Amino acid sequence: PSVFSAIEMAPRDPILGITEAFNADTNPGKINLGVGVYYDDNGKVPLLACVKKAEAILIEQSAPRTYLPIEGLAAYDKAVQELVFGADSAVIQEKRAVTVQAIGGTGALKIGADFLQRFAPGAQVYISDPSWENHRALFESAGFKVNNYTYYDPSTHGVNFAGMLADLKAMPAGSIVLLHACCHNPTGADLTQAEWDQVIAVIAANNLVPFLDMAYQGFGAGIAEDGAVVRRFAATGGPLLVSNSFSKSFSLYGERVGALSVVASSAEEASRLLSQLKRVVRTNYSNPPVHGGKTVATVLTSPELRQLWEDELAGMRVRIKEMRDALVKKLKEKAPSHDFEFVRQQVGMFSYSGLTKQQVDALRAESIYAVDTGRICVAALNSTNIDKVVDAIAKVL
Ligand code: PMP
Repeated sequence: PSVFSAIEMAPRDPILGITEAFNADTNPGKINLGVGVYYDDNGKVPLLACVKKAEAILIEQSAPRTYLPIEGLAAYDKAVQELVFGADSAVIQEKRAVTVQAIGGTGALKIGADFLQRFAPGAQVYISDPSWENHRALFESAGFKVNNYTYYDPSTHGVNFAGMLADLKAMPAGSIVLLHACCHNPTGADLTQAEWDQVIAVIAANNLVPFLDMAYQGFGAGIAEDGAVVRRFAATGGPLLVSNSFSKSFSLYGERVGALSVVASSAEEASRLLSQLKRVVRTNYSNPPVHGGKTVATVLTSPELRQLWEDELAGMRVRIKEMRDALVKKLKEKAPSHDFEFVRQQVGMFSYSGLTKQQVDALRAESIYAVDTGRICVAALNSTNIDKVVDAIAKVL
């Protein structure tokens, strides 16, 4: 027997498993609402015009492929920091924020988790119930004990805020609290500004460590609006960790572009933090890839391309909202005894539709694929497939 002979099969990834089943389905009318990807109205993953133009510039430059610094491309890190915190923010002016380029939002979370494990090894980590399915596994694999805090209330299809606040108040000092900055995945239920104020106050009063995960900036109310919560946390002085991703907002999924930013209490502390973040990166993958970071930096630092990006991102945001409206309106016609108005209140790419596992199974028999929890990707609906989806949902209700 070899050293590998006793290794068991790892559990399948629940979301990727749906895609596998979808790919194996020979029905030409099949629809995949299980993914976390934005599709345009033709059912295609867009290649944004701002990205195409930036790539044309990069090809023209034809630069040699040297290594990037451990912390990534300087122009990228700076542009990300300004996008996330605001160029005029105190944390940037006072050099208290450090940013490292990361392998997507997932890589940013992992750098943050490994960093925290070195300097707060005994801390408890808390994630929302439910949360993105990788949060728990990622922090556990970094060595943390991961707990849930109350979040979603199926009876209102919104946030159980009283429950969430009570859980926050009961966390031991020093606990790490993972929060979705906007467009909560998987529920689509976000906090109001007034609720954020209370969360920020409890976190500061109880010396908790907030870790904001922002994978969907621009898909909620707008780029600045969605980022506002990060700025309000930063204004309390830190500590604060922020992971952000351009997978969705630039439609650059496979380029793996994200970043981790950490807010320190002084510029001197920030430089020590950066040195330690670099150590985490160095021992994992040495330094990040060039292309995605250069592409995003080119767009964010060119006034013309940046405007184009903001317009294209607004287009994606508006299309998702139109699909929410259409879904609610059409379901009202086809299933008048059921109230889906909450779908309009939810934000971002996803909706916790309230469909049960049995109903999701029944949809699958019609070649419509959703997550067992009832999560559907609203960004996968389009003017061609929506009627089929509505008819099928009405049938399984
Ligand atoms: N956080 C959340 C909440 C997400 O939904 C995702 C991806 N869907 C990520 C992080 C990871 O982003 P990336 O694909 O850039 O690694």
